[in-house]
Amino acid sequence: MFKINRQHFTISLVLGLMGLLANLYPIPLFGNVQLILGNIVVVISAILLGPWFALLTAILCAIGLFITWGSWHVFILFSLEAIWLGYARRKDIYALYADIGYWLVIGMPLFYAYILLFSNQPESHISFITLKQGVNGLIYAALGSLVVTLFSSLWNLEGKVKDQKRRTFNAQLTYSFTLVLTISLLGSTLIFNHQMIEKQQARLQQSLQDSATHLGLATEVFIDTHKKAIDNASRLLSLSQTNSQNWQNRLSKLHQSYPGFITMLVADADAKIVSASPFSRLNHDKENTNNLNIKDRHYFQEAFFNQITYVSPVFLGRGFGSDPIVAVSAPIYQSENTNQPIGIIEGSLNLKTFADIDKKSASHNHHQQSMIIVDENDRVIYASSPLSLAPLSQFTRAKSGKKYKTNLDMLNLHDIDNPNPEFVYASYTLNNGWQLYVVHPFAPLLKTVETQYLTTFAILMLSLIITIILTRVISQRLTTPLSILANKFAEKGYQDASDYNIDQESPREFLTLFQSLRQSKQQLISHQLELEEKVAIRTFELEKVNKKLQSLAESDELTGLYNRRYAEDKFRTTQEFCHRSDEAMALAILDIDNFKDINDTYGHQGGDECLRVIANKMKQFFKRDTDVIARYGGEEFLLILPLCNVLMIEEHLNEFRRTISQLQIDNPQGNTSMTMTVSIGAIVSNASYSESLETWFKEADQNLYNAKNQGRDRVIISIPDTQPSA
Ligand code: GH3
Ligand code: MG
Ligand code: MG
Repeated sequence: MFKINRQHFTISLVLGLMGLLANLYPIPLFGNVQLILGNIVVVISAILLGPWFALLTAILCAIGLFITWGSWHVFILFSLEAIWLGYARRKDIYALYADIGYWLVIGMPLFYAYILLFSNQPESHISFITLKQGVNGLIYAALGSLVVTLFSSLWNLEGKVKDQKRRTFNAQLTYSFTLVLTISLLGSTLIFNHQMIEKQQARLQQSLQDSATHLGLATEVFIDTHKKAIDNASRLLSLSQTNSQNWQNRLSKLHQSYPGFITMLVADADAKIVSASPFSRLNHDKENTNNLNIKDRHYFQEAFFNQITYVSPVFLGRGFGSDPIVAVSAPIYQSENTNQPIGIIEGSLNLKTFADIDKKSASHNHHQQSMIIVDENDRVIYASSPLSLAPLSQFTRAKSGKKYKTNLDMLNLHDIDNPNPEFVYASYTLNNGWQLYVVHPFAPLLKTVETQYLTTFAILMLSLIITIILTRVISQRLTTPLSILANKFAEKGYQDASDYNIDQESPREFLTLFQSLRQSKQQLISHQLELEEKVAIRTFELEKVNKKLQSLAESDELTGLYNRRYAEDKFRTTQEFCHRSDEAMALAILDIDNFKDINDTYGHQGGDECLRVIANKMKQFFKRDTDVIARYGGEEFLLILPLCNVLMIEEHLNEFRRTISQLQIDNPQGNTSMTMTVSIGAIVSNASYSESLETWFKEADQNLYNAKNQGRDRVIISIPDTQPSA
C-alpha cells in the first residue's frame, strides 16, 4: 500500500506555511505589478520531495495569494507548476529550465486566457502582466534552485529525490551560470527599474504641478489684466464728456488695445447700450431692440447698482457664437466726485482665448499634457481639444488607480468606473475660485515600464543563449583535455609528446598537469624497464641454478655418473620401452673387489681416484645413448643396458672386467700406481621378465654374491626365461 513519508509530509507542510506567509505580502513593483517570492518554497519542495509533496506546498502558497488577490486562478496555475516541476525533477531536468518550459507552454497561455475572460484589465496591458507572471516564475525558480544548490548539505533528507544519472560538467557549469545570470539580471533590473520609475514619476508629477501653476497664474493674469483694463476704461470715460459719440470712439480705441475682449459696450443709466465695439454689434442689435437693453444682466446690475468692478460667472455668449464668455463690467460716473453712476462699461472675455495659453504651454515640450479649467460650479470652461469635453458641461471625474503602487495622483475622465487609471494630474486653484487641471495620459507611462521589462527579458534570453554557448566552450576546454589525458595515460607504453593534443586555449593548469603526468609516466616506464631487466637477469641466474640443482639431484658428484635415484627412475622408462618393442635388456651390478684394502693401502683419495677411473672406463665401454650407468652406492655401480644382444653381453662384461684388472692407476698422493679388480653380477632377459627393478636387482645381486664367493674378479650372468623364479 502507498505509504506517506511522514518527514517529507511535515517538511512540505512547513515550507507551504512559510510560502503562505510570504505571499500575504507581495513586493509591489509598479502599478498593479507585484513580485511574489513565497513560491520559492514550491520549487524547493519539488526538487527535494517530488511532485505530490510540491503540490501540497503549492496549494498552501496559493492560499496566501488568494487572500492577497482574491482570485482563484492561483490554485490552478501554481498547482500545475508544482506538479510539472516535480516530474521534471524526476527526469533530471533542472528546475529553472523546467520552469521556463512551464510558463511558455502552460503558465502564460493559461494566465492570458484567464485575464482575458475574467478581468477588466485593458487589453494592451494583458500581455505585459502575463509576461511578468512568467518572469516572476523564473525569479523564484532560480532562487529556489540556488537555495537548494548552496545549502545542499542542509538537505540531507532520507529518501529525497536523487539524480538518475551523473550530470556532465558542462551541464552543471551552464546551470550555475544561468542561475547567477537570471538572479543578477532580473534582480538588478527590478531594483534599477524601480528606482528609475520612481524618479520618472516624481519628475512627471513635478512637471504637471509646474504646468498647472504656470497655466493657473497665466489665466489669473489674463483675467486680472482685462479686469484692470475695464477699471481703467471706466475711469477714463468718467473723466470725459458725456457725449455718446465720443464714447464710441474711445471704446473702439480701447478694444483695439485689448483684443482679448470679444466685444465691448457702454450702457447708460437706463441700461440701454449706447456704444459698442465692434460697432456692427450695435447695428446688429438695433433690429432686436430687446437686446439693446441689458437691465436684466448681472454685469449691469452689479456694476451700476453695487458700483463694483464685476467679473461674471461663465455663460454662453448670445448672438456672438456659442463660446463660453465672462463679462467684466464697471460703473461710469459723471465726474470723479459724484457717487451716482451714469452708466457702465462692459467687456466680454472669450474664454476660447485660453487655447492660446494652452498652445503656448504645448509648444513647451509638454505635448502630452492637456489642460482643463473648471469654474466654481464645476462646469468645464475650457478643455484641450484631445480631451473632447464640451464647454460648460458638468465636469465629471473619479480618482482612480487606488490599488496601484504609485505616488502619482490619478483620475479618470471618460471611463469613470474603471479602476485602471486614465490620467495622471495636477491642479491649481485660481484666486477667483476656478480650478485648473493639467492631465497626462497614464498609458504611455505604463508602456515605458512595459518596454523596460520587455527589454530586460529580451536581454536575459540573449544572455542565456550566450551563457549556454560560452559555458559549453569553457567546459570543453576543461573536459576534453582531461579525457584525452586520462585516455592517453591509461594506454600502455610511452607515446611521443606530440601525441597529446592539448588545446592552446586550455587552462595553464592542464598543461602543468599534462607535463607532470608525462614526466611521471616516463619515470614509471623507465622504472618498469629497469625492473624487467632485473627480472630477466634474475630469471637467467635462477634457471642456471635450477639446472645445476637438477643435475646435482640426478648425478653423483665424485664420478659424474647418474646417481641411484636417477637410475631407478630410468629403469622404469627403459623397461617399459623394451617391453613395448618386445626386446631384451640387461642389468648388471659391479663391485670393486677388496676396496677396503685399496683405501687402507693408498688412502681415501687413492680410493676416490679408482672410483673416477672406473667411472670413465664405464662411460667408454657402455657408450650407447640408451645405456644407463650409475653409481649405486660406495664402490657399487649399476648398469642398465637395453636392446642388448643376449649372447654377446656376457663377453662384453668380461672384456670390461679384464680391462679394469689390467689398469695401472696413478695414485695422486704418491708415485705408486694402483690396480684393482671388479666382480659383476648380471641378468639378461626379455623386458617382460618383470616390471619391478627389485626382481631384476635381486637376481643380479645374487650373481654378484656368487662371484665374490667364487674368488672375485669374475662375471656371473643369468639368462632367465620371461617369468622370474619364485
Ligand atoms: P669385497 O671384495 O667383499 O667387496 O670387499 P670390500 O673391501 O670391497 O668390501 P667392503 O664392503 O667391506 O668395503 C667397502 C669399502 O669401500 C668400505 C669403504 O671404506 C669404501 N668406500 C665406500 N665408498 C667409498 C668412497 O667413496 N671412497 C673411498 N675411498 N672409499 C669408499
Ligand atoms: Mg661393496
Ligand atoms: Mg667391494
